[in-house]
Amino acid sequence: MAIEESEANSFHWLMDMLESVEVGLVVLDLDFRVEVWNGFMENHSGITASRIQGKVLFDAFPDIPKAWLTRKVDAVALLNTKAFTSWEQRPYLFQFRNTRPITGTEEYMFQNLTISPLSGTNGEVEKVCLMVYDVTDIASSKMALERANEQLAKLSMTDRLTGLLNRGTWENLVDAEFERFRRYGHTTSLVMFDIDHFKPVNDTHGHLAGDEVIKHTASVTRNAIRQSDSAGRYGGEEFGIILPETDAEGARIICERIRESIEQSVVETSVAPIRYTISIGIAQLTEEPENYMQWMQKADEALYAAKEGGRNRVVVG
Ligand code: GH3
Ligand code: MG
Ligand code: MG
Repeated sequence: MAIEESEANSFHWLMDMLESVEVGLVVLDLDFRVEVWNGFMENHSGITASRIQGKVLFDAFPDIPKAWLTRKVDAVALLNTKAFTSWEQRPYLFQFRNTRPITGTEEYMFQNLTISPLSGTNGEVEKVCLMVYDVTDIASSKMALERANEQLAKLSMTDRLTGLLNRGTWENLVDAEFERFRRYGHTTSLVMFDIDHFKPVNDTHGHLAGDEVIKHTASVTRNAIRQSDSAGRYGGEEFGIILPETDAEGARIICERIRESIEQSVVETSVAPIRYTISIGIAQLTEEPENYMQWMQKADEALYAAKEGGRNRVVVG
């Protein structure tokens, strides 16, 4: 009698623990009827154990991916082994609102899920137990870290003032484009341009106004090119554009558009409205250059010719 009583007691404690543990516990029979639904599940779903017991899980939660969970549970029952899925494979099984105060930015609770087989006395798997872990804190800090790393990678590739590719990144792309031409012979053109008489802009209106002009140049450039083109800030007020699949004539049309747009715009800086122009050199890639630097040199020579020719013009080298 004493033994039975102590067994009854420990069973009671065990049930108390299962009720209050910070893990979701669900026992399902092999027809997905709910047998156990602990306090964690009650709190987060708003559905009490007495209401869901005996019901088929998919009827109570139509959003649960039925085919996926059925496949998992069938494998667990057949092989008599546990299965595990992390939030990275599937963010959650049960769509519960995120209630964590520090990770309030996530809308839903991220969950890891373990499915364990439960065998009867004859050793056959008769039921499965789902264990639902709230991993919102881990998930959101990992995602924040990934976002930060992405931003860092982006920052180290781009120029702070203009947001265009920085010189190093852009030159690497020129090199890659040169190699692509060597292998596949695709038409491709390179553009270099430079702001005309920029020194006087700085001298008259100050460095900050000069920076505004540089930013304006970058934004006009960005708006004139396609997604597949790459614009970079090569020097202080020098820029470069790679135009893949574009011959010299196509490049000239794009460059004329940029040149004209800049000639016609007025940059409203805090000190004065500034008008300015740019000179542009183009080099369509031929068999002649032996490396990407010689290709860049050709574009730079065309740019020099544009300056010599009176500025505010496009020269094809
Ligand atoms: P040109 O028509 O021959 O190009 O004449 P220019 O006066 O523009 O001559 P150059 O291209 O040599 O001018 C470079 C000037 O650009 C010198 C420098 O003061 C200025 N500069 C370079 N980088 C920056 C920058 O980041 N911000 C500002 N405000 N000015 C810069
Ligand atoms: Mg210059
Ligand atoms: Mg200049």
